[in-house]
Amino acid sequence: MDLPDYAIEAKALVKTYPASKTMPEMRALKGIDLAIPRGSIFGLLGPNGAGKSTFINILAGVCTKTSGTVKIWGRDIDERPRDARAAIGVVPQEIAADPFFTPRESLEVAAGMYAVPKSERRTMELLNALGLGDKAGAYVRQLSGGMKRRLMVAKAMVHNPPVLILDEPTAGVDVELRRQLWAYVLELNRKGVTIVLTTHYLEEAQELCDQIAIVNRGEVVACEPTETLLRRMDVRKVLVTPEEPVTEAPILPGFETALLKTGGFSVSYRTGQSSVEQVLAAIRAAGLHIKDISTEDPDLEDVFVSLTYAAPAVA
Ligand code: ADP
Repeated sequence: MDLPDYAIEAKALVKTYPASKTMPEMRALKGIDLAIPRGSIFGLLGPNGAGKSTFINILAGVCTKTSGTVKIWGRDIDERPRDARAAIGVVPQEIAADPFFTPRESLEVAAGMYAVPKSERRTMELLNALGLGDKAGAYVRQLSGGMKRRLMVAKAMVHNPPVLILDEPTAGVDVELRRQLWAYVLELNRKGVTIVLTTHYLEEAQELCDQIAIVNRGEVVACEPTETLLRRMDVRKVLVTPEEPVTEAPILPGFETALLKTGGFSVSYRTGQSSVEQVLAAIRAAGLHIKDISTEDPDLEDVFVSLTYAAPAVA
């Protein structure tokens, strides 16, 4: 069988949550196009409320889309829902482990739900791969939070899907465990599994993903190989404390400025276009004396600004 070029392909995908008594209608996805290449580690990056979970929930079949098309592993979710779902494993955000099952039983039950024949089950192989081999017979409630999370990954893999989706996998996970989890995810990817992960940490996406899509308010703001994207996100911020506090941000030609609560101001610049020296020169040229400066790495908000705002060319 020919393998699809894209593990997941969404076209003009819209999700509108209807109005409720307390909330107005919400357009969580405003017609997104996303093509996730087979074999990639793909990051879906965006702040809370961007629409990441909505997208994942549509893929997982727990949320119905309003319009648009979605194919998983080349299978349309409307035309071949069962085949499409069989191609993905989803590790949900929340740990939902049954306290009365052992890890071995948990995996057997999950495999049963996917109708995996007994002879094809890989229960112990999966538990060993995730460092849970010696806990196979323990009660789930006796496992640490980290172990439970690894069990969730194992459960998502019982039917050997070619695509694994991890929804905010490291929220509340300590550094050591994060490393272990990533090691296993990278191993799976080396074996050919396409990985999709959602995160609101730029650093995490940067470290792991070969492609990143940035979503904000239900729209895809950017979708590129990580390196290309990082080159475009070359915004840096200088925080300036002037000798005399200011009440409004100074106008500096070619730079974005903003007032800070402290009586200082910030100046944003692009590393590809200007240098800190040029920023300082512009401040001095505006007749301001500098008491102190510090720099700040860009956060997601700055990234959106840099991706959606074309800085004026500096002469
Ligand atoms: P993310 O996962 O990126 O944080 P979500 O997909 O959870 O974003 O949410 C996108 C938007 O849709 C948010 O404004 C959220 O409040 C809204 N939303 C999510 N789920 C529901 C729901 N079940 N009913 C109504 N609105 C929802």
